Amino acid sequence: MSVLIAGAGIGGLAAALSLHAAGVGAAVVESAREIRPFGVGINLLPHAVRELIELGLGDELAAIGVATAENVYADRLGRRVFTEPRGMAQGYRWPQYSVHRGELQRLLLAAVRERLGADAVRTGARVVGFGDSGEWAGPGERGGVRVRILDRATGTVEESAARALIGADGLHSAVRAALHPQDGPLLWSGIRMWRGTTRAEPFLTGRSMVIVRDGDAELVAYPIGGGRVNWVCQVRVSEPGPLTGDAAWNRVGRLADVLPYFDHWRLGWLDVPGLLVNSGEILEYPMVDREPLPWWGSGRVTLLGDAAHPMYPVGANGASQAVVDARVLARELARTGDVPTALARYETERREATAAVVRANRAMNRAGARTPEELARVTDTYRDTTGGDVRTLNARASLGRR
Ligand SMILES: Cc1cc2nc3c(=O)[nH]c(=O)nc-3n(C[C@H](O)[C@H](O)[C@H](O)COP(=O)(O)OP(=O)(O)OC[C@H]3O[C@@H](n4cnc5c(N)ncnc54)[C@H](O)[C@@H]3O)c2cc1C
Repeated sequence: MSVLIAGAGIGGLAAALSLHAAGVGAAVVESAREIRPFGVGINLLPHAVRELIELGLGDELAAIGVATAENVYADRLGRRVFTEPRGMAQGYRWPQYSVHRGELQRLLLAAVRERLGADAVRTGARVVGFGDSGEWAGPGERGGVRVRILDRATGTVEESAARALIGADGLHSAVRAALHPQDGPLLWSGIRMWRGTTRAEPFLTGRSMVIVRDGDAELVAYPIGGGRVNWVCQVRVSEPGPLTGDAAWNRVGRLADVLPYFDHWRLGWLDVPGLLVNSGEILEYPMVDREPLPWWGSGRVTLLGDAAHPMYPVGANGASQAVVDARVLARELARTGDVPTALARYETERREATAAVVRANRAMNRAGARTPEELARVTDTYRDTTGGDVRTLNARASLGRR
């Protein structure tokens, strides 16, 4: 029996690779019938890049990622307010990468299939439930979890035995819903986000991320390689509160909804209206998170990544925290053969740490810092509260070490 992972997103695939590297058998079931390169830009912070390099993916990552050199905060006339070096320029021993989410997912998927076997990831298979099973015996242990899997092609539900079930099934996690039927709604920040990628000339260093604010509108833009600039336009349109509609990463957005907020912006070194008008596709997503959970899992079932701790995508930490989850989970499962104990230790190490990131993302979003001093304080505080301090990360032992 192996560990069954629900979801072949960044978190689920990183978990499969981490478990394999730690000598723990794993398999992944993914609800999508086909894994296509969905999404747009995403950032991997040095603490996650370190883990992926230790998993032997350094060259592949460097080939698809842009090593971010700086964050530039500016006003809508393009005047710099504050510049912060990033990644190795900031003193980390590992870079920060901006990548296309779909390309990162494809890279991880290829590595999983190569290392764990061609059939290690089963697509078109959705986890719909689970239950304990006292009767199964694994090598050196008794017990297991019975996972109910819907085969989307045939509509049949089958049961599969696993040593553990890891719910890495994202924002609308079925595993989380089963563990936490009283879970509250998605919480909306009141901000609409439009996102896209556009073929555009490099700007500033060619490896700069820019954050430009004007009233309730904000633009974040950065290159993701292949002559593409990823952009995110955020506009506060409401007070925060429970989300009434739907939140889907792949919902199509409309140029006419976003352009009026940005068509008068003139940065000089980046054509903002042009970015929006020439974008291949525009996606719209409400900036949402959930209240951190008081506990994640029980027995042989736990959560990982967005299923455990969905957060505002403002600190570049969503995928990065999922990778760290994956590494800690694998280390604990390799350390003790007793699965419930290993999962409890994983949760102890990760639950509060990721709740702090959820809260820090909210605080950063509310801070509305404008002056260089305020921006320096906000970014320093963010790093400190989210475990991203340069010296601490550079000095600490690898998460893969037992
Ligand atoms: C299609 C898509 C596009 C995204 N685009 C962006 C983006 O452009 N920018 C950004 O910052 N973040 C994006 N995200 C979110 C980002 O990937 C995550 O915040 C982060 O990488 C953590 O990933 P995760 O693996 O925990 O969750 P996710 O990346 O959400 O992956 C969860 C996976 O689980 C699968 N799944 C769901 N339910 C089940 C089930 N019951 N059984 C089996 N499998 C299931 C989903 O199909 C998905 O592949 C996107 C997510 C998705 C799913």
